[in-house]
Amino acid sequence: LPDTQFAEALLRWYDERDTPMPWRGSRNPYHIWLSEVMLQQTRIATVKDYYTQFLQRFPTIEALAQASLDEVLKAWEGLGYYSRARNLHRLAQVLVQEQQGRFPTTTEALQQLPGIGRYTAAAIASIAFGARAAVLDGNVIRVLTRLIDLPDEIGSPRVTQQLWDLAEALLPAERCGDYNQALMDLGRMICVPRRPVCERCPVQSFCLAYANGTQQQRPVKKQKAPLPNVRAAAAVIRNAQDRLLLVQRPAEGLLGGLWMLPGGKCEA
Ligand code: SF4
Repeated sequence: LPDTQFAEALLRWYDERDTPMPWRGSRNPYHIWLSEVMLQQTRIATVKDYYTQFLQRFPTIEALAQASLDEVLKAWEGLGYYSRARNLHRLAQVLVQEQQGRFPTTTEALQQLPGIGRYTAAAIASIAFGARAAVLDGNVIRVLTRLIDLPDEIGSPRVTQQLWDLAEALLPAERCGDYNQALMDLGRMICVPRRPVCERCPVQSFCLAYANGTQQQRPVKKQKAPLPNVRAAAAVIRNAQDRLLLVQRPAEGLLGGLWMLPGGKCEA
């Protein structure tokens, strides 16, 4: 297990790096929450513009809660995974109605909120409120499994617990919020899935996969199920005024709540 020097090396890199990201330095839990939700499943370069525009449109959690779901989905248009936008909107309303728009300050209390998992709760608690809480998402899992060159398949409860234990053991005594951001940035920018940039990695000297030349094989993942093939049909229906008929998809499920041409899967 790497000792405190691991966290020190990571924090040094974080402090010296000059890559301005609009959410860096903010201690506002709304900003941190928004950036973390946007960064799940989406690349940093894409998120930057969306994040800034979203905050211009909904500068406070109250503004977000007061907006209609359609307005929020419109601001999210193009980012994908629209359930994230619906969850943001719903949670903003819960926080405004039940907690005067204030976020709880501990990981445990944050995790009680709808749509906030252990990762997001720990990110908000450590960055906004200085809590000593570890984060573990796909990016951090990739870094940690490479760090210890873990040959086991990820995803089982045993391996997940092992990685949470490791993430917690590596936490520094202070500056956990900065450390967590550094670890997440490392996973998003350096220790990337296909071709990690090991020659620019601040923790290369601690990395067993690098030493063993196995970076590309870590983490070991389950084989993905093949993508389903679906035949679909859509109708373009206009009236005499040349207005187009659109229907709204159900709130839950794929592209939930978005508008589309009427149609659907071709079935027997
Ligand atoms: Fe990832 Fe390479 Fe750094 Fe190891 S040395 S943590 S594989 S970027």
